[in-house]
Amino acid sequence: MRLILLGPPGAGKGTQAQRLVEKHGIPQLSTGDMLRAAVQAGTEVGKRAKAVMDAGELVSDAIVNAIVAERIDQPDCARGFILDGYPRTLVQADAVEAMLAERGIALDSVIELVVDDKALVGRIVKRAEDAKAAGQPVRKDDNPAVFEERLREYYKKTAPLTGYYYAKGRLRTVDGMASIDAVTAEIEKVLAVTAK
Ligand code: AMP
Repeated sequence: MRLILLGPPGAGKGTQAQRLVEKHGIPQLSTGDMLRAAVQAGTEVGKRAKAVMDAGELVSDAIVNAIVAERIDQPDCARGFILDGYPRTLVQADAVEAMLAERGIALDSVIELVVDDKALVGRIVKRAEDAKAAGQPVRKDDNPAVFEERLREYYKKTAPLTGYYYAKGRLRTVDGMASIDAVTAEIEKVLAVTAK
Protein backbone atom coordinates (compact mmCIF):
# COMPACT_ATOMS: atom_id res chain seq x y z
CA MET A 1 0.00 0.00 0.00
CA ARG A 2 1.39 3.37 -1.05
CA LEU A 3 -0.37 6.33 0.37
CA ILE A 4 0.02 10.10 0.60
CA LEU A 5 -1.48 12.04 3.51
CA LEU A 6 -2.17 15.67 2.65
CA GLY A 7 -3.24 18.50 4.90
CA PRO A 8 -1.88 21.59 6.62
CA PRO A 9 0.50 21.46 9.59
CA GLY A 10 -1.42 20.29 12.65
CA ALA A 11 -4.07 18.45 10.61
CA GLY A 12 -3.19 15.14 12.27
CA LYS A 13 -1.19 13.52 9.47
CA GLY A 14 1.51 12.28 11.84
CA THR A 15 -0.99 10.87 14.35
CA GLN A 16 -2.92 9.04 11.66
CA ALA A 17 0.25 7.83 9.95
CA GLN A 18 1.37 6.21 13.21
CA ARG A 19 -1.92 4.34 13.45
CA LEU A 20 -1.56 3.16 9.86
CA VAL A 21 1.95 1.94 10.62
CA GLU A 22 0.59 -0.19 13.47
CA LYS A 23 -2.35 -1.54 11.52
CA HIS A 24 -0.73 -2.17 8.14
CA GLY A 25 2.91 -2.77 9.09
CA ILE A 26 4.32 -0.33 6.55
CA PRO A 27 6.63 2.57 7.46
CA GLN A 28 5.71 6.23 7.86
CA LEU A 29 8.00 8.39 5.77
CA SER A 30 7.85 11.82 7.35
CA THR A 31 10.21 14.23 5.62
CA GLY A 32 9.86 16.52 8.66
CA ASP A 33 11.14 13.72 10.95
CA MET A 34 13.93 12.85 8.53
CA LEU A 35 15.02 16.48 8.29
CA ARG A 36 14.90 16.92 12.08
CA ALA A 37 17.07 13.80 12.42
CA ALA A 38 19.54 15.30 9.92
CA VAL A 39 19.63 18.57 11.88
CA GLN A 40 20.19 16.62 15.11
CA ALA A 41 22.97 14.56 13.56
CA GLY A 42 24.60 17.71 12.15
CA THR A 43 24.84 16.32 8.60
CA GLU A 44 25.41 18.57 5.58
CA VAL A 45 21.68 18.36 4.75
CA GLY A 46 20.82 19.16 8.36
CA LYS A 47 23.04 22.23 8.35
CA ARG A 48 21.42 23.52 5.17
CA ALA A 49 17.88 22.80 6.36
CA LYS A 50 17.99 24.10 9.92
CA ALA A 51 17.47 27.84 9.43
CA VAL A 52 14.78 27.27 6.81
CA MET A 53 12.88 24.91 9.11
CA ASP A 54 13.21 27.23 12.10
CA ALA A 55 11.68 30.01 9.99
CA GLY A 56 8.73 27.80 9.00
CA GLU A 57 9.66 27.83 5.32
CA LEU A 58 10.06 24.88 2.99
CA VAL A 59 13.38 23.13 2.46
CA SER A 60 14.43 22.92 -1.21
CA ASP A 61 12.75 20.39 -3.45
CA ALA A 62 16.11 18.96 -4.47
CA ILE A 63 17.01 18.09 -0.86
CA VAL A 64 13.71 16.45 0.08
CA ASN A 65 13.31 14.63 -3.22
CA ALA A 66 16.77 13.10 -2.77
CA ILE A 67 15.98 12.05 0.81
CA VAL A 68 12.73 10.33 -0.20
CA ALA A 69 14.18 8.66 -3.30
CA GLU A 70 16.84 7.07 -1.12
CA ARG A 71 14.41 6.11 1.62
CA ILE A 72 11.88 4.29 -0.57
CA ASP A 73 14.60 1.93 -1.76
CA GLN A 74 15.12 0.60 1.77
CA PRO A 75 13.87 -2.98 2.26
CA ASP A 76 11.18 -1.99 4.78
CA CYS A 77 9.43 0.02 2.04
CA ALA A 78 9.04 -2.97 -0.27
CA ARG A 79 5.45 -3.63 0.82
CA GLY A 80 4.50 0.03 0.80
CA PHE A 81 4.79 3.26 2.77
CA ILE A 82 2.91 6.27 4.01
CA LEU A 83 4.17 9.64 2.82
CA ASP A 84 3.54 12.16 5.59
CA GLY A 85 4.42 15.79 4.84
CA TYR A 86 5.67 14.93 1.37
CA PRO A 87 5.06 15.95 -1.39
CA ARG A 88 4.59 19.59 -0.40
CA THR A 89 5.06 21.32 -3.77
CA LEU A 90 4.03 20.58 -7.35
CA VAL A 91 7.68 19.90 -8.19
CA GLN A 92 7.78 17.29 -5.42
CA ALA A 93 4.50 15.77 -6.63
CA ASP A 94 5.98 15.35 -10.11
CA ALA A 95 9.08 13.84 -8.52
CA VAL A 96 6.93 11.25 -6.73
CA GLU A 97 5.30 10.27 -10.01
CA ALA A 98 8.72 9.86 -11.63
CA MET A 99 10.17 7.93 -8.66
CA LEU A 100 7.30 5.48 -8.63
CA ALA A 101 7.23 5.08 -12.42
CA GLU A 102 10.99 4.35 -12.43
CA ARG A 103 10.42 1.60 -9.91
CA GLY A 104 7.32 0.23 -11.62
CA ILE A 105 5.12 0.89 -8.59
CA ALA A 106 1.88 2.81 -8.24
CA LEU A 107 0.31 5.13 -5.73
CA ASP A 108 -2.87 3.70 -4.20
CA SER A 109 -4.40 6.61 -2.36
CA VAL A 110 -4.05 10.33 -1.72
CA ILE A 111 -6.03 11.33 1.34
CA GLU A 112 -6.49 14.94 2.39
CA LEU A 113 -7.34 15.68 6.00
CA VAL A 114 -9.62 18.68 5.76
CA VAL A 115 -9.42 20.96 8.79
CA ASP A 116 -10.52 24.36 9.98
CA ASP A 117 -7.57 26.78 10.07
CA LYS A 118 -8.72 28.41 13.26
CA ALA A 119 -8.35 25.15 15.19
CA LEU A 120 -4.81 24.56 13.98
CA VAL A 121 -2.89 27.07 16.08
CA GLY A 122 -4.57 25.61 19.18
CA ARG A 123 -3.50 22.10 18.16
CA ILE A 124 0.09 23.20 17.64
CA VAL A 125 0.21 24.94 21.02
CA LYS A 126 -1.19 21.78 22.61
CA ARG A 127 1.38 19.61 20.80
CA ALA A 128 4.15 21.78 22.25
CA GLU A 129 2.62 21.61 25.76
CA ASP A 130 2.17 17.81 25.54
CA ALA A 131 5.78 17.32 24.42
CA LYS A 132 7.02 19.48 27.28
CA ALA A 133 4.86 17.63 29.84
CA ALA A 134 6.19 14.28 28.56
CA GLY A 135 9.77 15.52 28.94
CA GLN A 136 10.26 15.40 25.16
CA PRO A 137 11.97 18.13 23.16
CA VAL A 138 9.59 20.84 21.94
CA ARG A 139 9.81 21.54 18.21
CA LYS A 140 11.27 24.97 17.58
CA ASP A 141 8.68 25.62 14.87
CA ASP A 142 5.69 24.67 17.07
CA ASN A 143 4.91 28.20 18.23
CA PRO A 144 2.22 30.59 16.96
CA ALA A 145 4.59 33.00 15.15
CA VAL A 146 6.41 30.35 13.10
CA PHE A 147 3.19 28.42 12.67
CA GLU A 148 1.66 31.33 10.76
CA GLU A 149 4.53 31.17 8.30
CA ARG A 150 4.14 27.38 7.98
CA LEU A 151 0.46 27.88 7.20
CA ARG A 152 1.29 30.56 4.60
CA GLU A 153 3.77 28.19 2.97
CA TYR A 154 1.07 25.52 2.97
CA TYR A 155 -1.45 27.71 1.14
CA LYS A 156 1.11 29.04 -1.33
CA LYS A 157 2.89 25.83 -2.20
CA THR A 158 1.08 22.74 -0.89
CA ALA A 159 -2.63 23.47 -1.19
CA PRO A 160 -2.37 23.37 -5.03
CA LEU A 161 -1.64 19.64 -4.68
CA THR A 162 -5.29 18.97 -3.90
CA GLY A 163 -6.14 20.24 -7.41
CA TYR A 164 -3.24 18.25 -8.85
CA TYR A 165 -4.51 14.96 -7.41
CA TYR A 166 -8.17 15.82 -7.93
CA ALA A 167 -7.48 16.27 -11.65
CA LYS A 168 -5.89 12.83 -11.70
CA GLY A 169 -8.99 11.38 -10.03
CA ARG A 170 -6.92 10.31 -7.03
CA LEU A 171 -7.94 12.74 -4.30
CA ARG A 172 -10.04 11.49 -1.38
CA THR A 173 -10.98 13.77 1.48
CA VAL A 174 -11.60 12.99 5.14
CA ASP A 175 -12.98 15.34 7.80
CA GLY A 176 -9.92 16.00 9.94
CA MET A 177 -11.96 17.86 12.57
CA ALA A 178 -13.60 14.63 13.76
CA SER A 179 -12.15 12.69 16.70
CA ILE A 180 -8.86 10.85 16.13
CA ASP A 181 -10.67 7.49 16.12
CA ALA A 182 -13.33 8.72 13.69
CA VAL A 183 -10.67 10.06 11.32
CA THR A 184 -8.85 6.71 11.48
CA ALA A 185 -12.10 4.89 10.68
CA GLU A 186 -12.75 7.17 7.67
CA ILE A 187 -9.23 6.66 6.37
CA GLU A 188 -9.64 2.89 6.65
CA LYS A 189 -12.88 3.13 4.65
CA VAL A 190 -11.06 4.99 1.88
CA LEU A 191 -8.21 2.46 1.93
CA ALA A 192 -10.65 -0.43 1.70
CA VAL A 193 -11.72 0.77 -1.74
CA THR A 194 -8.51 2.32 -3.04
CA ALA A 195 -5.55 0.38 -1.65
CA LYS A 196 -4.05 -2.98 -2.49
P1 AMP B 1 6.66 18.76 9.39
O1 AMP B 1 7.23 17.95 10.50
O2 AMP B 1 6.10 17.92 8.28
O3 AMP B 1 5.70 19.81 9.85
O4 AMP B 1 7.89 19.53 8.74
C1 AMP B 1 8.66 20.45 9.48
C2 AMP B 1 9.48 21.33 8.55
O5 AMP B 1 10.37 20.53 7.77
C3 AMP B 1 8.67 22.11 7.52
O6 AMP B 1 8.16 23.32 8.04
C4 AMP B 1 9.72 22.35 6.44
O7 AMP B 1 10.64 23.36 6.82
C5 AMP B 1 10.47 21.04 6.44
N1 AMP B 1 9.85 20.05 5.53
C6 AMP B 1 9.26 18.86 5.87
N2 AMP B 1 8.82 18.22 4.79
C7 AMP B 1 9.12 19.01 3.73
C8 AMP B 1 8.90 18.91 2.33
N3 AMP B 1 8.26 17.85 1.79
N4 AMP B 1 9.35 19.92 1.54
C9 AMP B 1 9.99 20.99 2.05
N5 AMP B 1 10.22 21.15 3.36
C10 AMP B 1 9.80 20.18 4.20
